[in-house]
Amino acid sequence: MKKVHNFSAGPGILPELVIKQAAAAVLNFDNLNMSILEISHRSKNYVTVMDNARQVVKDLLLLDDNYEVFFLGGGASLQFAMVPYNLLGTKAAYINTGVWSTKAIKEAKIIGNVEVIASSEDKNFSYIPKNYTIPTDADYLHITSNNTIFGTQFKEFPKSPIPLVCDMSSDIFSRPIDGKQFALIYAGAQKNMGPAGCTMVAVRKDVLGKTERKMLSMLDYAVHIKAESMYNTPPVYPVYVSMLTMQYVQANGGLELMEKLNNAKAQLLYNEIDRNGLFTGTVAKEDRSVMNVNFIMNNSTNEDAFNKIWKDAGVSGLPGHRDVGGYRASIYNAMPIDSVQVLVDVMKLAEQKLG
Ligand SMILES: *Cc1c(COP(=O)(O)O)cnc(C)c1O
Repeated sequence: MKKVHNFSAGPGILPELVIKQAAAAVLNFDNLNMSILEISHRSKNYVTVMDNARQVVKDLLLLDDNYEVFFLGGGASLQFAMVPYNLLGTKAAYINTGVWSTKAIKEAKIIGNVEVIASSEDKNFSYIPKNYTIPTDADYLHITSNNTIFGTQFKEFPKSPIPLVCDMSSDIFSRPIDGKQFALIYAGAQKNMGPAGCTMVAVRKDVLGKTERKMLSMLDYAVHIKAESMYNTPPVYPVYVSMLTMQYVQANGGLELMEKLNNAKAQLLYNEIDRNGLFTGTVAKEDRSVMNVNFIMNNSTNEDAFNKIWKDAGVSGLPGHRDVGGYRASIYNAMPIDSVQVLVDVMKLAEQKLG
């Protein structure tokens, strides 16, 4: 089989060992002679999986006992609604850094009063806003740590006087962070945490229960916390594979090593984009994402020829988001630097042929 270098933005790649472990558990989970696809979520073995998955999130994000972690269905997109539904009483503040923030803002506005305190929409979301005032009378400030579609990333998080909420779907576990600076972190699994099908929510308990709202059970964080992430049947398999992926990160150098490797991969690729006359990076240099690398060809008539070159080299998933165009290389934790080198070599080859 020819090696594929998969630069897909999501669902993204997973460590090879995790894929093997996940495949084995489909056939025989925990030596129970049953598939993980057919066991009860209330069985002792699966309750252990859920406990371990919740614990490894706390370990990696340095969360203490003030936090609760649970896994839900509905994607990060459901959290766009659940966050304001659970936390928004008077007013919420949002920073708009792209498509996902825009969608989060849209949902919050349906629930209550929203103030967008900063936005990079004026320059097609090509930078992270730096100068803004956080209103102290808002219930929370919502940010998107990594702008998956346009390729920008918060390198430093706002020092917020109000509870800070973060959509970390596309850069969670890519670098060491102190999760305790956030009141709530959520992440759809399918970028850097596991397969599609579950969303992780970590919340500091003191921010809950402050609205007057009469709560629907399935949308109430407190209900899922009380039920230890088993109020209804959880996404059994996605949580299992996410647990394997997180334990893999933990056992293989942790977030410190992930950051080192991710920085090396990103630097290799951005250096080539900056050096090679065929290409231009599309976002402000200081805000460049370490996970999603966006670039364009300076002469779009070269695109067909370039597309053939990278496809012939086994590169996959490179076209930019359908709303943006150009190219996007997603280089999540599981992406080996050797695959990034293949892409760089392809760009050099294109330069020889087309430059
Ligand atoms: C992919 C993505 C989402 C949407 O996730 P779904 O699981 O498809 O709802 C939200 N936010 C960010 C930052 C993303 O990258």
